[in-house]
Amino acid sequence: MQNVEVADNLQKLLKEVPKEVTLVAVSKTKPVSLIQQAYDLGHRVFGENKVQELVEKHQQMPKDIQWHMIGHLQRNKVKYIAPFVSLIHAVDSERLLHEINKRAASNNRVISCLLQVHIAEEEQKFGFDTEELTQLLDQNLLDELKHVEVKGLMGMATFTENQDKIKEEFAFLKNLYQQLKEKYNLPWTTLSMGMSGDYPLAIDEGSNMVRIGSLIFGKRVYN
Ligand SMILES: *Cc1c(COP(=O)(O)O)cnc(C)c1O
Repeated sequence: MQNVEVADNLQKLLKEVPKEVTLVAVSKTKPVSLIQQAYDLGHRVFGENKVQELVEKHQQMPKDIQWHMIGHLQRNKVKYIAPFVSLIHAVDSERLLHEINKRAASNNRVISCLLQVHIAEEEQKFGFDTEELTQLLDQNLLDELKHVEVKGLMGMATFTENQDKIKEEFAFLKNLYQQLKEKYNLPWTTLSMGMSGDYPLAIDEGSNMVRIGSLIFGKRVYN
């Protein structure tokens, strides 16, 4: 097994991320032994992108961890995470919101969510565009869904070396966040943008939640 200095990595990172920015430690594909190292340092916010892995790790780890679902979520899998998930980052359809509301209700919970906005060039990335988001907010649907609390927006920039392009996409999302928040008088608090490769740019552009995996846990190996 690779010897990753999770504690060192996390401490270094925590010095660079301002206190007002929430650091989500993205532990996908990584064993609970590594998550435990971050936990032992006092870290409590972890992110996963696969439902089954999230459920398994929740079962194995201490119950005061706040688990964030950061990946694309299928409606038929909401029921597995509804009892415990702390924040769902990537809500990308109205139907998904309805399902989260239903499953939250049956667990007597209100589940916090972020709406994912498509800001990247890549077609395969998910999320609402500006028009769809405006339509959604115009309907007052979010007031009706009593078991869902939308707290803000989430986005992923294009995978590119072009820093100006990434900066532009983050600035676009921050601007959209502000505009919608004001126009609809929303009690939003959270703008989730920035990963290992682009989090300093994201924070400069107004992010207050970053999702960081490889800088903490080392590179991921997929087979
Ligand atoms: C994997 C993942 C991250 C973290 O990626 P790193 O480059 O390892 O920091 C952030 N956000 C989402 C949605 C992810 O799937």
